[in-house]
Amino acid sequence: MSMNIAIDGPAGAGKSTIAKRLAKRLGFVYVDTGAMYRAMAYYFLSRGIAGKDEDAIAIACQDVDVTIVYENGEQQVLLNGKNVSGALRTEEVGNMASSTSVYPAVRTKLVELQRRLAEKSDVIMDGRDIGTCVLPGAQVKIYLTAETATRAKRRYDELAAKGIACDIRKIEQDIADRDYRDMHREMSPLRQAEDAVLIDSSKMTIDEVVEAIYEVYREAAGIKGAESET
Ligand code: C5P
Repeated sequence: MSMNIAIDGPAGAGKSTIAKRLAKRLGFVYVDTGAMYRAMAYYFLSRGIAGKDEDAIAIACQDVDVTIVYENGEQQVLLNGKNVSGALRTEEVGNMASSTSVYPAVRTKLVELQRRLAEKSDVIMDGRDIGTCVLPGAQVKIYLTAETATRAKRRYDELAAKGIACDIRKIEQDIADRDYRDMHREMSPLRQAEDAVLIDSSKMTIDEVVEAIYEVYREAAGIKGAESET
């Protein structure tokens, strides 16, 4: 049976940065489920479909094929065979993903793909509903969060580093709106699974968070500490 680590939490909590590092350290496959919702959103945007038009979205879902491949250990998202990974991290796509991820037609399609990936490999999967819905049997579940202002600053820095102009107040408002939608939708809302370990990364470095999750993993995997190995 494969080992599954689920990391859920709100936007900008550092899930993907941490999950990527941990995946490298453990030799696990990293699955970024947000990128899959973003790929669907990118498709709806490119077709000029409004985020509120559930009927058009349900129809469009029938024509859309999302596939995940790995190149040099990095996840690439193929949308109808075309690699769209480089176009997914904009605020426009993120907001559209949040609006359209509420629809069952979108979620059902992606959850199936996510479960298939976790069946065949040891994965670290991050998202909003991994511990509660996609992989309820995951051996390790983490709920990673941080204060809203901290998360907005991180997102701002991420976009600024890519040379994308942005307004931090707008990012903070977008994050708050997105969290609200993600937490209050009917299907698979964002919430901490009962058996998830809560980590607030507001005052932690990336290394500290990676270490904290690694400790939870070691305990779950029954790996003894260096002291007790002698
Ligand atoms: O994590 P990221 O910002 O890339 O996710 C974009 C959006 O996709 C989220 O705001 C959320 O609405 C949706 N999402 C989801 N379930 C997941 C992952 C992402 O609903 N497992």
